[in-house]
Amino acid sequence: MPDPRVLILGGTSEARALSGALPGVTVITSLAGRTSSPLRPAGEVRVGGFGGVDGLTAYLRSEGIDLLIDATHPFAARISDNAAAAATATGIPLLVVRRPGWLEQPGDVWHRVPDLEEAAALLPRLGHRVFLTAGRQGIAAFAEVDAWFLARSVEPPEPPMPSRLETVLDRGPFTLDGERRLLAEHRIDVIVSKDSGGPGAKLVAARERGIPVVMVDRPRAPAAAGTVASVAEAAAWVASSWP
Ligand code: NAP
Repeated sequence: MPDPRVLILGGTSEARALSGALPGVTVITSLAGRTSSPLRPAGEVRVGGFGGVDGLTAYLRSEGIDLLIDATHPFAARISDNAAAAATATGIPLLVVRRPGWLEQPGDVWHRVPDLEEAAALLPRLGHRVFLTAGRQGIAAFAEVDAWFLARSVEPPEPPMPSRLETVLDRGPFTLDGERRLLAEHRIDVIVSKDSGGPGAKLVAARERGIPVVMVDRPRAPAAAGTVASVAEAAAWVASSWP
């Protein structure tokens, strides 16, 4: 009997780790193609959009996929909605892997907002030297804000973007010492972050310096059959899916 086939919708460190943690199955990881030199997962890789729900549904059928795992970023809402719809259409079991969001701790000065537009509207009241960590696609929302920005992303940003912008091209995970240095060197007085979850050294460094953080809430997640928080739980789900 051929190995079962698992499609992982990726673009996260969890997806990459999971691709190497599934013995005895054929793993295909799907990447959107947003970064020019992505870290490569184990197993097969395909790159680029499927063409909406219909395209993903057709792919699942033509490739004989047995299990679908949505291990995309918590802010990648469209592909997660598409995965839920395609799983329903095909009857293929779906598991969502979502790292937990961050929780405010004593000493934090957080302002939770529902989206990037609200973050941009709030910023001028909080500071004038902004560390913007919303990713390349998140920079446009701040184009009209009158402040100085240090924006960190994996790929260079494209217009529209703020007129006073310095970029640092880097990929996490980031160290606490590195984050401390960056905040001090650039005299940062406010941070914008998505509630991505994960190590979050920048949040520790902000707490130490009493710097306010504008924290953008996650988009609504689709009601999926099952959601787990860790790679180990996802690997156990896959292992339990066959006798
Ligand atoms: P999105 O808005 O949810 O998706 C937009 C479209 O991109 C989807 O409809 C789909 O196109 C395609 N797509 C997205 N993820 C894909 C995947 N893994 N494989 C194949 N096609 C995919 O997604 P996004 O926010 O632009 O994120 C794109 C990728 O970057 C995701 O894989 C995500 O895990 C990763 N990422 C996102 C963020 C973030 O903050 N959004 C941060 C870190 C990493 P079709 O409809 O044509 O299939």
